[in-house]
Amino acid sequence: MDSIRDLKRLLYERTATLRRREEVIELLEKAVEERDITIHYLQNEIDKFRQIVDFSLLSGGIGPAQRAKRQAISAEPLTKDTGIIVKFHKLRRSRELIKAAILDNDFMKNLELTQIREIVDCMYPVTFSSGSIIIREGDVGSIVYVMEEGKVEVSRDGKYLSTLAPGKVLGELAILYNCKRTATITAATDCQLWAIDRQCFQTIMMRTGLSRQAEYTDFLKSVPIFKNLPEETLIKISDVLEETFYNNGDYIIRQGARGDTFFIISRGQVRVTIKQPDTPEEKYIRTLSKGDFFGEKALQGDDLRTANIIADDPEGVSCLVIDRETFNQLISSLDEIRTRYKDELVERRRLNEEFKDLRLQDLRPLATLGVGGFGRVELVQIVGDSTRSFALKQMKKAQIVETRQQQHIMSEKRIMGEADCDFVVKLFKTFKDRKYLYMLMEACLGGELWTVLRDKGHFDDGTTRFYTACVVEAFDYLHSRNIIYRDLKPENLLLDSQGYVKLVDFGFAKRLDHGRKTWTFCGTPEYVAPEVILNKGHDISADYWSLGVLMFELLTGTPPFTGGDPMKTYNIILKGIDAIEFPRSITRNATALIKKLCRDNPAERLGYQKGGISEIQKHKWFDGFNWEGLRARTLEPPIMPRVQNATDTTNFDEYPPDSDPPPPDDLSGWDNDF
Ligand code: AMP
Repeated sequence: MDSIRDLKRLLYERTATLRRREEVIELLEKAVEERDITIHYLQNEIDKFRQIVDFSLLSGGIGPAQRAKRQAISAEPLTKDTGIIVKFHKLRRSRELIKAAILDNDFMKNLELTQIREIVDCMYPVTFSSGSIIIREGDVGSIVYVMEEGKVEVSRDGKYLSTLAPGKVLGELAILYNCKRTATITAATDCQLWAIDRQCFQTIMMRTGLSRQAEYTDFLKSVPIFKNLPEETLIKISDVLEETFYNNGDYIIRQGARGDTFFIISRGQVRVTIKQPDTPEEKYIRTLSKGDFFGEKALQGDDLRTANIIADDPEGVSCLVIDRETFNQLISSLDEIRTRYKDELVERRRLNEEFKDLRLQDLRPLATLGVGGFGRVELVQIVGDSTRSFALKQMKKAQIVETRQQQHIMSEKRIMGEADCDFVVKLFKTFKDRKYLYMLMEACLGGELWTVLRDKGHFDDGTTRFYTACVVEAFDYLHSRNIIYRDLKPENLLLDSQGYVKLVDFGFAKRLDHGRKTWTFCGTPEYVAPEVILNKGHDISADYWSLGVLMFELLTGTPPFTGGDPMKTYNIILKGIDAIEFPRSITRNATALIKKLCRDNPAERLGYQKGGISEIQKHKWFDGFNWEGLRARTLEPPIMPRVQNATDTTNFDEYPPDSDPPPPDDLSGWDNDF
């Protein structure tokens, strides 16, 4: 008896011990989970701050105030479809391996399936024998690889990092723009790879985007309520159409239900039926197929469905769908904002007339104001006139040709030369010699907003509002002429002597045809919009995205999307603004505006919709802001720079004298119009 009782007691005690252990395990699991969350959060934070920390270490580390200026990047402009896409036959196994590798890659998995299919088609075979170098650190690359067979080793600075097996994408940043390879990849065995170059990739992206746009606008033109809309509006609508798939037999619309969506059939056919009174039966009315549409009354406000629409195709049905709200947001008289400011070109010519006879030799350099991608910007005076000064931007012609940026430079000259806006730095005259191009501009002696932000760490709500408003005014001016700026960041905002901000560096600005997009990847990594990264084609809506990024950076000192390297940054951008934690210091209204600017879908961004940029000016974050005072320059700026005279450069960092050897001559003549 005793032993049974003992055993029972023992069992009881063991069970109790086990339960306690389980409780402990549960607690520990919770702690691990919490730690994972903390690690994830800290990793995010490290990513955000890595650039700054790295810079401060490199430069001797004098505290967190050290920030690195960011370099803009650009692919060579792709103006038109080059027409040549060569496809390479491959076995089904290879196709599947390439596709799987692309879908496994953080960046490339975001491409559309039709685009991935084309990329797979166009990849060509390459082989590397054991020991040969596939990608060399420091080289400028333009090819992306997928490995099918073999093994490769990755190293940096001669140090081994990892070994990769088949099924991986290698060197994907090069598909976006010319960039230095950041690691070396060596074949550890004989390797077979598939390759694609940037030109082919970009042609595929542009072609798929354009053919979709053409197909969708054609569909829209066949719908009576859209027929008379201007082409540019149709293009805008086609951008927001969403393709939705229905299985055979699915009810797409049900009679009697309320709905606010409109459909165009893009593939397959549907059955229209109407319910007979007093019976459950439905009477067949007709069949609709590709190009037909239904539900259009919903767009005009009548939301009670009068019939059933049922997918009637063994392969299923695809429809292009738009809802009333999206439709109403887009449709308004877009033309009205485009026709303002007519006589300004004449005014600008008059302004530049003054410098008609000025020669390069008449200018005397005083100090370096800054260093741009192609050379220095000097503060200069006209000999014999010490009352005023100018900024002279000097650009190396050979370097422009080498990086194939000729078109961008010509566009910069044209746009800056014509712009007549208080919030855009004025360009008065251009010069050239065998080695350089020069741009004579108004000098803004308050320094870069970047420097002010670096010194202050971040700005308060009111200060940020003022500078953001200056940019909004500049964008209003540019966008109403369909000019996209594409390189917003504090480095490109200069303070004039009255503390007002002006946009400078129009190297990536471009005038677009109405309703058209542009495809060249350019901008500064932290500021580029997702559609630029995904090569979907972009327009002025990309500037609204960057405006949201700028607000965030001015308010916190750090842009919202920052990774340790550009590709990491792009992948963070592609996750969207909702994945970003907003510090409490950003007010609710500011958060709301940033989120409305940084919408993934360009057509949904504030500023791009009906009402245009005035929607931003009317946003509650700007409530009470004195826009009139800003335009009249009577509003007091939040920070008044100290500028003592026309030659005071104390608001600029100091630059050592240029020790670079002079660049080679460039006599190719591409700059005849400069
Ligand atoms: P950019 O090549 O246009 O990016 O110019 C490089 C740097 O030169 C800028 O970041 C400014 O610091 C300085 N800079 C350019 N233009 C001007 C200007 N008009 N007035 C004063 N500083 C300028």
